[in-house]
Amino acid sequence: MSLHIPFDNSYARLPDRLFTRQAPVPVAAPGWIALNEGLARDLGLDPAALRTDEALRVFAGNAVPEGAEPLAQLYAGHQFGSWNPQLGDGRAILLGEVVGPDGTRRDIQLKGSGRTPYSRMGDGRAWVGPVIREYLMSEAMHAMGVPTTRALAAVTTGEEVIRETALPGAVLTRVAQSHIRVGTFQILTARGDHDALRALADHAMARHYPKAGTVPEMLAQMTARQADLVAHWMSLGFIHGVMNTDNCSIAGETIDYGPCAMMDAYHPARVFSSIDQFGRYAYGNQPQIALWNIAQFATALVPLMPDQDKAVEEFTAIINRFADLYQAAWLERFGAKIGLAQAAEDDRALIERLLTAMAEHGTDFTLGFRALAEDRPEETGAPEDWIADWRARAPDLAVADAASPRVIPRLHRIEQAITAAVAGDLAPFHAMLEAVTRPFDPLDAAREPFAAPPGEGELVDRTFCG
Ligand code: AMP
Ligand code: MG
Ligand code: MG
Repeated sequence: MSLHIPFDNSYARLPDRLFTRQAPVPVAAPGWIALNEGLARDLGLDPAALRTDEALRVFAGNAVPEGAEPLAQLYAGHQFGSWNPQLGDGRAILLGEVVGPDGTRRDIQLKGSGRTPYSRMGDGRAWVGPVIREYLMSEAMHAMGVPTTRALAAVTTGEEVIRETALPGAVLTRVAQSHIRVGTFQILTARGDHDALRALADHAMARHYPKAGTVPEMLAQMTARQADLVAHWMSLGFIHGVMNTDNCSIAGETIDYGPCAMMDAYHPARVFSSIDQFGRYAYGNQPQIALWNIAQFATALVPLMPDQDKAVEEFTAIINRFADLYQAAWLERFGAKIGLAQAAEDDRALIERLLTAMAEHGTDFTLGFRALAEDRPEETGAPEDWIADWRARAPDLAVADAASPRVIPRLHRIEQAITAAVAGDLAPFHAMLEAVTRPFDPLDAAREPFAAPPGEGELVDRTFCG
């Protein structure tokens, strides 16, 4: 069976200041971690052809498939609010793009595939921990219905990566609607490269906002997508952890599963990332940060407009709509979680009262909403008067059931899967993958352990960048 990937590489046809052509750096001894056969089919690829040794070499970066035009993308970004004038793919290589049977164009990118001109002090590599984390998180998010980059394959390299200790190396094959970020626009504007900026905007519009037609309309639709995306995150207790502008996708997908985590006990100020000292990316700050990132996007788009003063006015009006869009999306998501298919403005206070009680009780976010969906409201920690008001609102438990997953990719379970993988045992990873990719299904014996919050001694409350 021979490997054929029908690449059509539109990004490689953009002005070459946007990237550096660079092949992945081969590794010593590729080995399988996982192949995502369902995603392969979505891409129009034959899973059987991807299970071969030939494909394993491609996923490790040891062979470049026919039609690929490997490159590292250039971008900049605001990291924790501070401008970094040049970042770029320091450990990722875009192999190319494939248009699936559904007509969607998607990037196929290797992550952990060796040094590039943008690696700075980094080694261009990933260890098995972040690769497994991203695989589990992104596939779980997809299964929960959240727009996200996906994981097509993960392989080991047979090489060691030096972090605090020597760890087994790995490469993730990431699939995304594109890897264009707010930071991709920012770097061109910062450099005054308006020709490339125009080309990138046309490209992003054709690819992600085909109905927009104009730059302000693209900004408006991007604003709406981010509002929906972050409301969806909030409704699942997801904390991204590193919402820098270089980790903000123009396509509106969740991207960069670095120090992310799902909350166990609910608290709006929850932070997991060890480098987020001031809680900039805390759970409750995520909407404001999304808006801040959109404002940076708008700023980067200004040079594309004929009258810059007017553009600033027009863009300001557009991004000022974020708050209403977000609030509406939040009300819809959380309304559904308490069983209201048509939540009204008045219901906002009801939801807020529940969340306040959950925060006071340290209720597990996921189990609290499952308890509601299963008609055990007293387990949320809510007081009797709240329960009476909730019942008076005649919630539809089928609506609540469909809005609250049973199994989420819990941090302590991810850490257990990583520890086992480092010791050479991939069984916990595969068991967890099976559980988190069926988040809404009734539990069975194999998946039940993954639904439980951390037990005594299992709690993990810190995440680190890989
Ligand atoms: P992130 O925090 O994952 O968004 O990454 C920020 C920047 O650091 C990006 O430009 C990455 O490509 C780069 N980077 C992260 N890890 C490495 C590494 N091990 N080697 C080279 N570059 C890296
Ligand atoms: Mg990143
Ligand atoms: Mg990262």
